[in-house]
Amino acid sequence: MTLDLSGKTVLVTGGTRGIGRAIVDAAAAAGANVAFTYRSSSDTADALVAELGDDKALGIQADAASADDAAAAVQAVLDKWGAIDGLVVNAGITRDGLMIRMDAEAWQAVIDTNLTGAFHVAKAAYRPMMKQRAGSIVTISSVVGVMGNAGQANYAASKAGLIGFTKSLARELAGRGVRANVIAPGYVETDMTADLGPAAEKLMGQIPLGRLGQPDDIAAAVLFLLSDAAAYVTGQVICVDGGMAM
Ligand code: NDP
Repeated sequence: MTLDLSGKTVLVTGGTRGIGRAIVDAAAAAGANVAFTYRSSSDTADALVAELGDDKALGIQADAASADDAAAAVQAVLDKWGAIDGLVVNAGITRDGLMIRMDAEAWQAVIDTNLTGAFHVAKAAYRPMMKQRAGSIVTISSVVGVMGNAGQANYAASKAGLIGFTKSLARELAGRGVRANVIAPGYVETDMTADLGPAAEKLMGQIPLGRLGQPDDIAAAVLFLLSDAAAYVTGQVICVDGGMAM
């Protein structure tokens, strides 16, 4: 069975770099119309749309933490293609620090973008997807949301929150033919993890497969969940982490 997304429309939040970019590329290669949001990389977004073609791609500047931006992004997708078959909630940030030094602003910024941002965009897409009686929502959590991590209490809380959120959507929407699943990546080589420094060596010892993940490793699992090959999969957390969280 091939993972064919021809005729489907997918919206990916945070699609200009890293994991989101790999998901955009994979979905487009599988034949989907792909819309993606970003926060500030408008040059990258323009180049990506030019590469994929104006008729197949749409870049939308939208801050994940803004309900208005989320609603406008979903509306832009509906205006262009009339449907949303796949929603990938990927945009995320870190503001790391041990609890003793973490201030309320660092806590709130991460919760606002990673968790409340998921609420905003899923809420905007909820009704259209429900009415279509078909679709797939994929949220990008983290192995840290499953296991916890010293120095990332805010991030871990946001990513663990996404798991409960997504499972709840899966239960609410199953009767309408809309599936919702979570991908929990391990450590993936992107800008977010660029300055792991000496921690990278220590980390390697915790990864049974012995390497950091690549954005394409995550995109492959997302593509599966977006596709009809996953028609009987909902409410699941799939760790794509080299075996870290087993
Ligand atoms: P990057 O930092 O490499 O890329 C982040 C992307 O999200 C960019 O496209 C960025 O847009 C966009 N973005 C960031 N903040 C916002 C915002 N407020 N509104 C809209 N878009 C935003 O991140 P990764 O690719 O590493 O991570 C992607 C997701 O995967 C995140 O949710 C992250 O938590 C999760 N994850 C990552 C892991 C890793 O090891 N890298 C491991 C586990 C989970 P712009 O270019 O405009 O800044």
